Amino acid sequence: MNYKTIDDLDDLTGKVVFVRADLNVPINEEFKVTNTARIDRTVPTIKELMEKGAKVVVISHFGRPEGKGDIKNSLRHIVGDLQKALGKRVVFVDDCIGEKVSAAVAQMSQDEVLLLENLRFYDEEKKGNEEFAKELVKPADIYVSDAFSTAHRAHASMVAAAKEKTSVMGRLMEEEVKALEKALANPVRPLMAVVGGSKVSTKLDLLNNLVKKVDKLVISGGMAHTFMKANGINTVNEANSLVQPDMIETAKEIMNIAKTNNCEIILPEDIVIAKEFKPNAEHKTVSLDEIPAEGWSLLDVGEKTIAAINAKLDECKTVVWNGPLGVFEMKPFDNATNKVAEHVAELTTAGHLMSVAGGGDTVSALENAGVADKFSYISTAGGAFLEWLEGKELPGVAVLKRA
Ligand code: AMP
Repeated sequence: MNYKTIDDLDDLTGKVVFVRADLNVPINEEFKVTNTARIDRTVPTIKELMEKGAKVVVISHFGRPEGKGDIKNSLRHIVGDLQKALGKRVVFVDDCIGEKVSAAVAQMSQDEVLLLENLRFYDEEKKGNEEFAKELVKPADIYVSDAFSTAHRAHASMVAAAKEKTSVMGRLMEEEVKALEKALANPVRPLMAVVGGSKVSTKLDLLNNLVKKVDKLVISGGMAHTFMKANGINTVNEANSLVQPDMIETAKEIMNIAKTNNCEIILPEDIVIAKEFKPNAEHKTVSLDEIPAEGWSLLDVGEKTIAAINAKLDECKTVVWNGPLGVFEMKPFDNATNKVAEHVAELTTAGHLMSVAGGGDTVSALENAGVADKFSYISTAGGAFLEWLEGKELPGVAVLKRA
């Protein structure tokens, strides 16, 4: 890897190490954490640094605060869960810069962790302010960035802070970057991308980048309907099919770029249509020339399409997945997403396929299919994962490049 990691650090005994984590976990109305995944995935980095003798100070953003003192968005709500996950005492400091922090760092013992208050209580964080970053990492000897999911933002704690000190990636960010490089930068081919979701317009950059990189591209979900229309297929009225008329020319262009780059595009061959947009609505599977002119919504792809995608997967060695193939939140319109996800999981388990998924609803769609833990790698990131697939350089990763 071309990036600095914890392995590049010398003796850490007694060193104050700031870990920029993403502890932005969901909480309920009683301020109880409802999903600890992000806390759990930060633990290996913190533990390793502590085992190597460092004094660890954890910093993070949390929610969308409306300024300082917004109790709902205080990181104090996660202290108990972090403590449990680490098996160490966690001392909370109700600020992230200034006297209070310096005093707490000076007093801390090597066997406890300091958790500082929400970085976004200061507007300077989002603005990428250098003075704030300087002040933030003043007590630190070393800075470890482990918040891959925020790496697409040039916030103060992600970029300016890293420039102030000896800075490396934490284990979670390292794992994310390695998985994404393995999938897109140096993939074992044939490489397939599966892209689903609602609209073409939100995935334009992603599609434009992928058609130049992958050998096969599955386009499904609502966004496939614009491509079908571009191919002359009658896809009922726009309201029921998510067809974006102003994107039809763009869809044609994407298909042309694919041709030039020898990228095979796999579009639906049959469609599941429903009378209403609701769970268990009356539905049927139709071929592309049987789509009725009105009265039906296009909610999933049919068995023929599923079989075609799965057969193409059998030919591949690597797959990158973003977006559900149909309206997975409503049964039975999760069928295609589930069946293709199960097939990816089987091929991965058998050692035939390296599979990486992430971004937006993808993780919940794969969890709904019950196979998320069987993929080679599931990214914790939403926007950052998408921007990586779009081929963009993430500022919070770029800053950690080896000189
Ligand atoms: P995105 O955030 O663009 O990845 O879109 C995810 C959403 O796309 C999910 O909420 C799905 O329900 C939705 N979706 C997938 N297929 C369809 C479809 N055929 N019609 C309407 N919505 C869809």
